[in-house]
Amino acid sequence: MFCRYCGKKLKNDAVICTSCRRPVEPLTVAGVPVDSGRAWSFGMMAGLIAATLFLPPVGIVFGFLGLRNPARRTQGAVLMTVSVFMSLLMLAVMLGL
Ligand SMILES: [Zn+2]
Repeated sequence: MFCRYCGKKLKNDAVICTSCRRPVEPLTVAGVPVDSGRAWSFGMMAGLIAATLFLPPVGIVFGFLGLRNPARRTQGAVLMTVSVFMSLLMLAVMLGL
C-alpha cells in the first residue's frame, strides 16, 4: 500500500509512514465513511420516497378543502400549487433516475 499523504510505498502492516512519519490509517477506517454515507443516503432516499408518496396527496386534499373555504382560498391555492409542483418534480426525478 501507499502513504495517503506523501505517496511513499509502505509495507501492508505499516503503522507510521517511513517517509513523512504520519500515521497510516488502515483501509477499514477509510471504508467506514463510505458505508455510513451509503446508509445515510438510503435513509434519505426512503424519506424522500415517503414524502413523495405521502405529502403531495395530503397537500392536494388540504389545498382543495382550502379552496372551498373563501377565508382560506389563498392558503389553499398556495398549498395545492406547491403540492402539485412537488409531485410533478418528484415524478420527474424518479423518471429521470
Ligand atoms: Zn508518508
